[in-house]
Amino acid sequence: MAHELSKSTFMRGVKCEKNLYLNKHLKELRDDLSVQQEAVFTQGSNVGELAQQLFPGGIDLTPETFYDFGKSIFKTKQAIAKGEPVIYEAAFLHNGVLAAMDIMVKSENGYKAYEVKSSTEVKDVFIQDVALQTYVIQNCGIQLEDVSVIHINNQYVKNGPIDINELFTIVSIWDEIQNPLAAVPNQIVRFKQVLKSGEVPEVNIGAQCSNPYTCDFMGHCWKDVPEYSVFNLSRLKMEKRLELFENGIVQVEEVPDDFKLSDNQRLQVEAEKNKTEYIDKDQIKQFLNEINYPLYHLDFETMGHAVPIFDGSSPYQQLVFQYSLHVQKSPNAEPHHFEFLAETNGEDPRIKFVDQLIKDLGDEGDVLVYNIAFERDKLNDLANLFPSKAEKIYFIINRLKDLMIPFQKKWYYSYKMRGSYSIKKVLPALVPEFDDGYSSLTISDGGTASLVYAQMTDGTYEGNYEEARKDLLAYCELDTLAMVKILERLFMV
Ligand code: SF4
Repeated sequence: MAHELSKSTFMRGVKCEKNLYLNKHLKELRDDLSVQQEAVFTQGSNVGELAQQLFPGGIDLTPETFYDFGKSIFKTKQAIAKGEPVIYEAAFLHNGVLAAMDIMVKSENGYKAYEVKSSTEVKDVFIQDVALQTYVIQNCGIQLEDVSVIHINNQYVKNGPIDINELFTIVSIWDEIQNPLAAVPNQIVRFKQVLKSGEVPEVNIGAQCSNPYTCDFMGHCWKDVPEYSVFNLSRLKMEKRLELFENGIVQVEEVPDDFKLSDNQRLQVEAEKNKTEYIDKDQIKQFLNEINYPLYHLDFETMGHAVPIFDGSSPYQQLVFQYSLHVQKSPNAEPHHFEFLAETNGEDPRIKFVDQLIKDLGDEGDVLVYNIAFERDKLNDLANLFPSKAEKIYFIINRLKDLMIPFQKKWYYSYKMRGSYSIKKVLPALVPEFDDGYSSLTISDGGTASLVYAQMTDGTYEGNYEEARKDLLAYCELDTLAMVKILERLFMV
């Protein structure tokens, strides 16, 4: 029983007809999935299975392989005819369109359908997705009484075994799908035409490429856009970037003088044109004068799980598990390094983290971080979790200073920062000998560090744990060493 469209290919068409076509006929152009994206998919299917417990005892019609939907469709028909009370992964085919609904529950006059999402809210894109499924199911002759999205409730706080009813939120979207539902038949006709057209639809790159999610053909469609281009103009709206691009202006230095930009954007363009740095010495001096020694350069790493593992934590809450600390007694003094990386032995990493942190941070001097909002937020979480230590944690919060400020406020801007004030861009711009500092590491970004540790915690990490620990330590250490080096450079201006 072949199908021409599925829910996922239909959604590709909704996003971009070129994506729909390429995915069918030129799959080899598709970008490889990143490790992070794969983890999101795995997480999604784990959440889907867990949500089945909201309606226990159902029959599972998940096909054995992705290409084996024929049997599931047949079994679904039988199950519905029998009036099965709960069906998981029911599959339907109508008009060449395949749809699989996560959970179907028998109701008085038909069925109620539930689509499970691992997000924490009902996103617009779900409405379209569920409208298509509703169209297929209703046209298979099934009376649907309601359709809902089941999503994660990020207000849930784990306390003991997972409480399924608290972990999930069920939201009926029956009213919301009615308008998109009416448009579905025409969309199906259109998408089938696109697939049969024999030629790649002409679609220009645009906002749809990264919104509401990143397209997996960007490597192909964006191949002529250089790594650094008008699309990297800091905080410029997508339509303005596209306006430049569509007028043939690709390089940052090509932006015309009369194109309306903010002061910071104009600074970015001018610095690129002249390959210069801009330094506001007075502001930087004042910033440095306000730093109190001994100085603690501090950086946290965090991880989160869709379904919380530790008591006192919520879905997706970012939990601290590691820090690196470089301590300097006076400006330009040799720094001493301290670090903490929690064991992955089932214990909540925050317990030993907070004790060690309080000890390592002493009782005087500033605590320098890069992006204060992040560390302050995590420290406030710890104060809430450990009320008996709250006073000491608030004392640390009061000592925080933010090294990002001189770069965020453009008191120091180099064309080498490419419009960014991320530490990964600031470090090589200010300290060229660290040019390949991050790229030479096995773990070279916070997202990977977070994922690796989360997998080590829940036992799904497939690499060598000892090696991974070394890589995590090396990565976090570089973040605070980078701060030492950046500060050193600021003292030289
Ligand atoms: S990268 Fe953009 S233009 Fe290309 S297929 Fe994806 S959404 Fe369409």
